[in-house]
Amino acid sequence: MRYVKIKGDKIYEFLERLKNYGKLYAPVKISEKFYDRKEIDDVGEIAFDYQRTIMPAKKYFIPPCEEMFEIDMEENEYREKLEEVEPFVIFGMHACEIVALRILDGVYLNEYPDIYYERRRKAGIIIGLSCLPDEYCFCNLRRTDFVDIGFDLFLHELPDGYLARVGSPKGHKIVDENPDIFEEVRQEDIDAFRAFEEKRQEMFKFKGNFDNIRYILELTMQDKLWDEESEKCLGCGNCTMTCPTCRCYDVQDIPEIGGKKGKRIRFWDSCQFRSHGLVAGGHNFRETKRDRFLNRYICKNSYFYPLGTSYCVGCGNCTYFCPANIDFQENLMKIRGREVIHE
Ligand code: SF4
Ligand code: SF4
Repeated sequence: MRYVKIKGDKIYEFLERLKNYGKLYAPVKISEKFYDRKEIDDVGEIAFDYQRTIMPAKKYFIPPCEEMFEIDMEENEYREKLEEVEPFVIFGMHACEIVALRILDGVYLNEYPDIYYERRRKAGIIIGLSCLPDEYCFCNLRRTDFVDIGFDLFLHELPDGYLARVGSPKGHKIVDENPDIFEEVRQEDIDAFRAFEEKRQEMFKFKGNFDNIRYILELTMQDKLWDEESEKCLGCGNCTMTCPTCRCYDVQDIPEIGGKKGKRIRFWDSCQFRSHGLVAGGHNFRETKRDRFLNRYICKNSYFYPLGTSYCVGCGNCTYFCPANIDFQENLMKIRGREVIHE
């Protein structure tokens, strides 16, 4: 892998240069407690020390609602809505979210690629950024706290700049085309990188791993914990909307008045909604709130075999944004028997 350094006083110039490669999206602080990603005009707005954004970066690859095609009964045809996707750059993705994007790749870019997703994925440049965990993060238990593939550049904070790992041909191009921004990595940068990684590991609240949690969940589906916790759940779907790997969608055909024309749209759905399991004939295969609640735990803790990770990357978003204060990782710890905790 190629390593270069961006000196601290060059970082804003670097961010300006990124605009030459497409629309720049990055995290900004939007209120006392919350951050979100948005298109950046003034690079001074970018938040480097954010933990999580309200909406994960998946929104740039799978929009919350999109039109797939138009139906024209008069012309007896349908027209796919495949507008040109402008190049864009997402700055500041954390390791867990880059792994999440690779999980989405595995789902959307399999032997039958989703052309809508694929076009956006090809147009995007991913710039990762190192982070320090808060009390909601458990990416270490998921082994997603460090990522070695899936980014174009990954920036690691140093006391006087950033150590950048170059992860793709697009990343090499950015480095090669901006030689005044980058310089060689020195021994003191390597020492600082090592120290940062050690500090990060020490800051995680939970130690150990979750390798057997899927099986424990399957064996404890009758546990009263699920009765108690699902009783508190509001069924709002926040946990799935803000999850970087949740990707369930619904599809609807919307006819115009007169019925001669119409369009097909798809939009984010949530397994926490009662309508999600509703099928023809009024049958619902997840009838109760308990069924829906437990489904998310089982789904997120299943394995995505191509990557050898679970579908949960341990970002803590679902707990942070739950209006009922339901603590996802705490529930997993309880059901697991707490033996991995060393606070
Ligand atoms: S965010 Fe919380 S309250 Fe809302 S559906 Fe998820 S677990 Fe239930
Ligand atoms: S289940 Fe929760 S902690 Fe896991 S990836 Fe989704 S939002 Fe993050």
